[in-house]
Amino acid sequence: SFPLSPFGERLSAPAGIVSLMDDLGEALNVNPDILFLGGGNPARIPEMEQAFAQALQAISANPEQLHKMLGVYQSPRGHEGFIERLVPFLNERCGWSITSKNIALANGSQSAFFILLNMLAVPATANTPAQKIHLPMAPEYLGYSGQTVAPDMFCAHKPLIELVEGNQFRYRVDLATLANTQNVAAYCVSMPTNPTGNVLARSEVEALQVLAAEQQVPLILDCAYGAPLPGIVYQEVALPWSDNSVYMFSLSKLGLPGARTGIIVGPEELVEQFVNANTVASLANGNAGPALAEALMAQGQLEPLIQHTVTPFYLAKRNHMLGALEQALAGLPCRVHCADGAFFVWLWLQDLPISAHALYLQMKAEGVLIMPGEPFFFGLDAPWDHAEQCIRLSYCQSDEVIVKAVTILGRVLRKAYGA
Ligand code: PLP
Repeated sequence: SFPLSPFGERLSAPAGIVSLMDDLGEALNVNPDILFLGGGNPARIPEMEQAFAQALQAISANPEQLHKMLGVYQSPRGHEGFIERLVPFLNERCGWSITSKNIALANGSQSAFFILLNMLAVPATANTPAQKIHLPMAPEYLGYSGQTVAPDMFCAHKPLIELVEGNQFRYRVDLATLANTQNVAAYCVSMPTNPTGNVLARSEVEALQVLAAEQQVPLILDCAYGAPLPGIVYQEVALPWSDNSVYMFSLSKLGLPGARTGIIVGPEELVEQFVNANTVASLANGNAGPALAEALMAQGQLEPLIQHTVTPFYLAKRNHMLGALEQALAGLPCRVHCADGAFFVWLWLQDLPISAHALYLQMKAEGVLIMPGEPFFFGLDAPWDHAEQCIRLSYCQSDEVIVKAVTILGRVLRKAYGA
């Protein structure tokens, strides 16, 4: 094999996200009998597929539109028609007053994160400490963890744990510990959070904005599942504008992960810098996602599809999952994180005698894929036993698959607990 640069070594090392995508690829493409509660693929919603198909047919039938989608490079900031529609869409729903200069597109929000996180995080030198990406609340999206070109560029903070009636719990930002942080390059939090489904309270978002302003760094709010788009969230979400906040959106969870479209919304200057970096890395973004979304917006279809199809679909799935868990785990010392949004439930299996990773392997042997908790706690300065007591379950599969998988989980857990 060829010698690699430190950057190459780091990026090509087996990262958590790679084995997750392997599992996903295997389950979805090779072995469809696996009961797959593992990955982050959105559900298959017939009404959404139909709307995308109609929009695609209309584009294909129009030579000019087809040429624009397939035959031209997008300008650096991204598809103008889509951005022009996004400006009023976001302003009306979020109470902002942004312009197109606050928006840029990317080939998926994952690649937008790769660029943005590396634009901000500063590796240590012999004389200066690293300036890291601070995650206000572990656990956090596993997909960030391998992204920085230098190692050890994340600093995660333990949350407070609030017990909620009905065997639930909720993580809360521990502002007291965050107040003392130093060498911060940016704060970053997903909302709703992957893996927990947590939505930050308005007071938490505002407190983080104040903290970021004090540190003179950006606060990145990852809304891959959130409001107003794709709307996989079951309660009000506060998206207050501030001149140090960067909001990240994506078309993926709307049902378009194959179209690879991410949307970054932030201060003009940072967005401009992002556009330059993204153009160096990608030349241009793909047109298919923006063209489809623009078509749905032009027809006035996007908002009704979100309100009447996407949100109710996932809400019903969540309720089904919670019902199945209540039955299958009755009597076990298990708590569910308040499932405000995203399409996951996050379980805290208190005092589990085996690690979550061992549970993951046992479940895999039973034909069920779940996500063990440990990899979501990257960036902590010391291991936390809580991480080994947590798992994430996706509720994107059919109701039957969910019941089957959760029933097996109950059986495996009863054995593990000796119950
Ligand atoms: N952010 C979060 C919290 C996610 O869960 C994901 C994907 O699962 C992404 C970002 C990246 O999504 P995409 O690159 O498809 O926009």
